[in-house]
Amino acid sequence: MDLGIANKTAVVCASSKGLGRGCAEALAEAGVHLIMNARGEETLNKTADAIRDRHNVRIETVVADITTKEGQDKVLSVAGEPDILVNNAGGPPPGLWSDWDRDDFLTALNSNMLTPIALMSRILPSMITKGWGRIVNITSQSVKAPIAVLGLSNSARAGLTGYVAGTARQVAQHGVTINNLLPGIHATDRVVFLDGQLAESKGISIEEASAERAATIPLGRYGTAHEFGATCAFVCSQHASFMVGQNILLDGGAVNATL
Ligand code: NAP
Repeated sequence: MDLGIANKTAVVCASSKGLGRGCAEALAEAGVHLIMNARGEETLNKTADAIRDRHNVRIETVVADITTKEGQDKVLSVAGEPDILVNNAGGPPPGLWSDWDRDDFLTALNSNMLTPIALMSRILPSMITKGWGRIVNITSQSVKAPIAVLGLSNSARAGLTGYVAGTARQVAQHGVTINNLLPGIHATDRVVFLDGQLAESKGISIEEASAERAATIPLGRYGTAHEFGATCAFVCSQHASFMVGQNILLDGGAVNATL
């Protein structure tokens, strides 16, 4: 399918690995030029080189912590006025409700709520002027069904979801859509880390922990960054113009809900 977005420009935050990388790859496959970002230079450049070689699009890399004002300034100074924004950053650590103090919440809120809101606020005006734009926020299945050990994530992402629900409806009339993608368990480095935490807490091997978690998914396996990215590219496509303010669950059926 021609997604109709060739030669557009996308900022894909936190995209040297995992789900962000999956989104960058799928957008590049659709002919979109990229501004990719991460904190680690080596992996970011390697990933950008691989995508450039495969898809022959222009890619600029910005080494920066996207959760800081300086990092956001650096990314936007290279990106100019992008047509597409994919918001992403690392997720907060797991724990118990009694582990977290105010500073832990402020860090999580900054990374997973205030950072995407800041980037949207800065990029929306140019999208509105152009009469076209696509914004996708990578959030989590925890928005629909809380994951108890991820209380920091549950809280911050709920705040972002509320913001998007209203704002998406304010900007839709200008041809700009904002939607959220809600990953269930996908096979990325973050999930290796979370499987490791589960293995440690239960005194089982990491393989046993992964099998236990995969068994909670009706599909019986983890998702891949490739299939996640393909959905992201579709949501950014011309075909998704009528999709506004949605929370799209990609979880292999793990959230047991009718709607
Ligand atoms: P990942 O495999 O650990 O990859 C994270 C990527 O983000 C890396 O490229 C990393 O590069 C970059 N990054 C992290 N913090 C950054 C920062 N402050 N500034 C710039 N780049 C940053 O993680 P993932 O699994 O793709 O997860 C992505 C997001 O989806 C996270 O918020 C996670 O909580 C959420 N999520 C994931 C799953 C899942 O199953 N994978 C499920 C639900 C929600 P550097 O470290 O070099 O910066």
